[in-house]
Amino acid sequence: MNDFKKNLKNYSLIELESLVKELGLPRYRAEQIYKAIYVNRIENFDQITNFPKELRIQFGNSFILNDVVIHRKSVSKDGSVKFLFKLKDGKLIEAVYMPWLTEEDELERITLCISSQSGCAIGCKFCATGTMGLMRNIDTAEILDQILLVEKEMGQKLNNIVLMGMGEPLMNFENVTRALNILTDEKTELFSRKKITISTSGIAPKIIELAKEPRPVKLAISLHATTDISRQMIIPIAKTHTITKLMDAVEYYYKTTKIPVTYEYIPLLGINDTPEDAKRLARIAKRVPSRINLIPFNDISFTGVGGLSSELKATPKDKVREFAELVRANGAAVIIRDTFGDDIEAACGQLALSEK
Ligand code: SF4
Repeated sequence: MNDFKKNLKNYSLIELESLVKELGLPRYRAEQIYKAIYVNRIENFDQITNFPKELRIQFGNSFILNDVVIHRKSVSKDGSVKFLFKLKDGKLIEAVYMPWLTEEDELERITLCISSQSGCAIGCKFCATGTMGLMRNIDTAEILDQILLVEKEMGQKLNNIVLMGMGEPLMNFENVTRALNILTDEKTELFSRKKITISTSGIAPKIIELAKEPRPVKLAISLHATTDISRQMIIPIAKTHTITKLMDAVEYYYKTTKIPVTYEYIPLLGINDTPEDAKRLARIAKRVPSRINLIPFNDISFTGVGGLSSELKATPKDKVREFAELVRANGAAVIIRDTFGDDIEAACGQLALSEK
């Protein structure tokens, strides 16, 4: 039955205005629905109190508001929570809730890392999701529901959203940008654009397109190497999107949006962790105001995938510290990040794979 009903979270406000017009309703009904969904967080049409009863029944007969469910939830001893969501066709996506604490152990902020696709076609050698291939793009409602369902389940308002879970967000551009526009629209009272980060493996032309969005968000680049040869070994699309093309796109993004960029870099033993890499990394990062996050590698040998993926090893912690010092000495801002949820398969793709 629900297969025939359209999910209203797939509509922007402008699209809702066209919809109500087609239904012969006045335009203000669109904003009433929009605010009912995102401000009042209604779960069924009976809760739209400023709609007459017949209109609530009419909408209930033709539309739905949610078709994503929390399938599994794993709570880590560090306070992070991994959510596995089931979509209407049985596909799985993941999100990770991460509470950041102050030195006094007080809650400082909560970040949710969400998925933009089910699976991923990019196939980065260090990533469990990359071993699955792409199942499908998720729609706007499925992007938004990860956030709305986690806020409801945890009874807390989230502070930051990062699109760094399953999938390459810029390969699902239309749904991702529609979701970003809804999230940052002041009418929905959800998030400031400064609180949202989109992380990409580096699809250069799409970065340029993203810079032209009306409310641009923060950009993170999964760089992970400082030469085309080593980058191509671990990120297959780097053959097309070379470091030069990527950096030109990043510079365009910064010049257009004035938002500093983040670089993500997983130090991998013998692949990208030499002193020359540290110097090149600093040189790349200094091209626009930026910060580098050094992220610990999560072993993905549990996926059973062979080739380079099974051979990758994390650079030892003391070597990572030396690498960071050298990057810093060469004039770039760098921090070494902790991981969340080591005990709950929190790395991207791990929970969905364990379900299989
Ligand atoms: S790191 Fe991101 S882009 Fe690369 S395979 Fe994993 S999900 Fe895809």
